[in-house]
Amino acid sequence: MMQPNRYGGACAVCSTYVAPQQGVCRSERGQWTVYCTAHKTAEPQPVSASAVVDEDEAPRVEVRVTGSLAQCQVVKEALQTAAGVTVASTSAPHPRRDEDDDRVSVYLRAEITPAVLAQVERELTP
Ligand SMILES: [Zn+2]
Repeated sequence: MMQPNRYGGACAVCSTYVAPQQGVCRSERGQWTVYCTAHKTAEPQPVSASAVVDEDEAPRVEVRVTGSLAQCQVVKEALQTAAGVTVASTSAPHPRRDEDDDRVSVYLRAEITPAVLAQVERELTP
């Protein structure tokens, strides 16, 4: 069921950043998916092969990076090269609300392989 998005996120179709309440969202396979107004009638997006494998054990993690375009790119590349992490999608650079702040925010959705996640969860368990 469609409803206004309570949280900002990248449109599942075009990756444009959708500010809170400016688009719609619906629950797809157990996670909230955001659509911009242009794509609010889009069919649920096909699941990539890796997402099918990871679905139950490793829901996507979202990372917001704020900085210059180059800084955001460096952080994205660092995530992409991290063991067990796959960057699944990247939003368009989103300007800050404060006009004096010339940084941008980029929203990354990443997947963590179940093996790596399980190892870290074991380490976190007292
Ligand atoms: Zn869109």
